[in-house]
Amino acid sequence: MSSPHKNSSIQAFFCPSPAPSRSSPTKQGPNSSIGDGFTSQEVEEALKSTPPMTWQPEVEYAECEIRDLYPGPRAVTFMGRIANIFDVAIAPKTPRSAKGCLKLCVKDDHDAITVRLWYANRFPNVRLGSLVSVWTNHISNGESGNISSSSAPLFASLFPERDRGCHLMVHENSDDGTMFKRPLSYREGRQIPNLMTLQNFIDGGYDVIGARILVIVKSIGQRKRVERKDGSSTENMNIQVQDDTAGAILGLWGTPCLSPAGTFADKDKDPANGSTKSTPLWKAGETVLLLKSPAWKIGRGTYLSLSTTTIVDVDPEMADADWLRRWASRQKIREAINPPFPEGVFDLQALMTSPLRCLYTFADLDEFSRAAPNETFQGYLSVLIMEIRLLENWKRGMLMCGECCSMPIYANSTTGTCKGCEKKVDLRLNPKILGQVIDETACVGPGKLLLSVHAWVDLLGCSPERLLELGSEELRHIAEQLLFSRLTLLFGWNREAGGRVCVMRISAG
Ligand SMILES: [Zn+2]
Repeated sequence: MSSPHKNSSIQAFFCPSPAPSRSSPTKQGPNSSIGDGFTSQEVEEALKSTPPMTWQPEVEYAECEIRDLYPGPRAVTFMGRIANIFDVAIAPKTPRSAKGCLKLCVKDDHDAITVRLWYANRFPNVRLGSLVSVWTNHISNGESGNISSSSAPLFASLFPERDRGCHLMVHENSDDGTMFKRPLSYREGRQIPNLMTLQNFIDGGYDVIGARILVIVKSIGQRKRVERKDGSSTENMNIQVQDDTAGAILGLWGTPCLSPAGTFADKDKDPANGSTKSTPLWKAGETVLLLKSPAWKIGRGTYLSLSTTTIVDVDPEMADADWLRRWASRQKIREAINPPFPEGVFDLQALMTSPLRCLYTFADLDEFSRAAPNETFQGYLSVLIMEIRLLENWKRGMLMCGECCSMPIYANSTTGTCKGCEKKVDLRLNPKILGQVIDETACVGPGKLLLSVHAWVDLLGCSPERLLELGSEELRHIAEQLLFSRLTLLFGWNREAGGRVCVMRISAG
């Protein structure tokens, strides 16, 4: 007779409890199961990038476009992009052992369909904009109202973990970002129906059935856990969006919060450093969203959110989206507190060696730039410094500044830490050190001149690194010498530089 246990102590009669350190890097604290009902092991399973189960269709599925689908039993497969995600509350009629359900809107270039996706142990790895393939044996008519929406009236119900006859595959590596990027009702060279500016939407356009707005992401807020009234919690994230007419907040709730960041919730803490950061999928100033029928609340600001009938196109293929990106990049430079000095735009050598010294006034420059906004101007300006704010900025810890995650960073140091992403950011001298500057025709306010690295050294007589080592007496001395002094600026002007006068070099007198 052989016993599995070496000694027959009382311990042998109890089931062994799992060793706490075994293969699980995430510690299971007493609160870790509160929230969505997933254990850390389940979440880890879901996060594995390799497909957890390789699915092989057992019968032949007819390949369809969404517009070719019709209600009834039939083995069909179709592709599209996720255009909406809605967390469905678990109801009594929930299939046995399902832990949750997502109501997805899947659209291709012509039509959309509602897909109910049940899950037990594998949280579906879907984002707004994900390219997916769906296999199902049945398409239903959503006449019961709640299940599907008017924009996606047919629906398919999938529970891949329980039913081998259906499947949803997210194309992560095979998505080159080109398929199914056309908005519904798109016609080459024609305006998309019901597309309006954000301001028009705010001014009453929201009443139009199927109203559409095209906006660009301006900033992406932090993901937060929010307590509901019933004690449960959900995730929330605010995205600042804008077009050239207005701005708004787009509030995301629940699973859609995963879309911008590209990671799972606080469940997926990176075991190495405990942070939840990853490469964002949505980028401020780049990601364009076409929202059809968003939910809205207009008060002091404009708050948009996703209703069950909203359709979201992430980076849709349309000319207006490219225009909006270009507009946003110009706008960003205009609004930036310390934009980088434009490289390769101006020709300092030509300016310095030219036998002709073209002396401008601020008034000339204003007039010429309005008359020929796409031209590049270079020349000389003779100015007087009326204000220098070296000491004030030093005292407030604002000698240097930069920007990250649409937030300003100030410090008396050449680097600073972003409050949004906690990254180290290189800082440059604060343009507001140079206060008001005048010539005979006009004055220019603080921060309106953009100085190159050379120009700053010309002005202050030392490098930023050296400046930061100086004490208040030395800084006061530099400021006093500069105040009311006459300087010659070698400048360039170009629309892409956000309407600022770019100072390449500075000489006295
Ligand atoms: Zn940042």
